[in-house]
Amino acid sequence: MSISENLNRIKSTLPAGVRLVAVSKTKPEEDILEAYNAGQRIFGESHAQELKQKHEDLPKDIEWHFIGHLQTNKIKYIISYISLIHSVDSLKLLVEINKEAAKHGVVVRCLLQFHIATEETKFGLTLDEARQLLESDEFRTLQNVRICGVMGIGSLTDNTEQTNREFANLKQIFDTLKADYFAGSDDFKELSMGMSGDYQLAIAHGSTLVRVGSSIFGQRVYDDKH
Ligand SMILES: *Cc1c(COP(=O)(O)O)cnc(C)c1O
Repeated sequence: MSISENLNRIKSTLPAGVRLVAVSKTKPEEDILEAYNAGQRIFGESHAQELKQKHEDLPKDIEWHFIGHLQTNKIKYIISYISLIHSVDSLKLLVEINKEAAKHGVVVRCLLQFHIATEETKFGLTLDEARQLLESDEFRTLQNVRICGVMGIGSLTDNTEQTNREFANLKQIFDTLKADYFAGSDDFKELSMGMSGDYQLAIAHGSTLVRVGSSIFGQRVYDDKH
């Protein structure tokens, strides 16, 4: 099936309120353009320099989301145009994003990434670490970042029960943070979970942003999601 057929098939299954992030990391610009011409506007990338090049070359009404591990020295490649950074996993990173955002006079929307999978190699905060971050004096001083929700990556497994537990856990974390820190905020509303293999389960658990790559663009030659 073509990229546009894949896209339309997936989009037809998404309920209202769930947005699709087309994960185009490692894929060539013509593939992104094919999805763009089929109406897709939100694309997810996980390498800052690759994203910088694609942003320069491709239509300017694309909404770029950063979904990978972000090194502080790479923030400058994406800060002026990034719509959402899904992968904030430390106060240190948030402070650096804030610093770069201030230089550009922008406020950058961010999600806190949580470690919900059993694999040890995945990045992400625990609930306690997130509480420490949100309660820190330094966090309160940050004027150029806005926390808009949470993100997590489920285990790479065929065990539906396990994936269900992990997504239920992330939804619980979202609800807890919303109640304890963001009750009055309209911005804190995004629950980014679900990829090609598990986005339907994620939607059943309240996902608002599904990040789907290979089901749209085909398998990647190399895969860095874990
Ligand atoms: C690569 C990646 C995806 C997309 O994975 P697919 O299985 O190809 O849909 C989603 N989220 C993150 C964080 C990724 O790195």
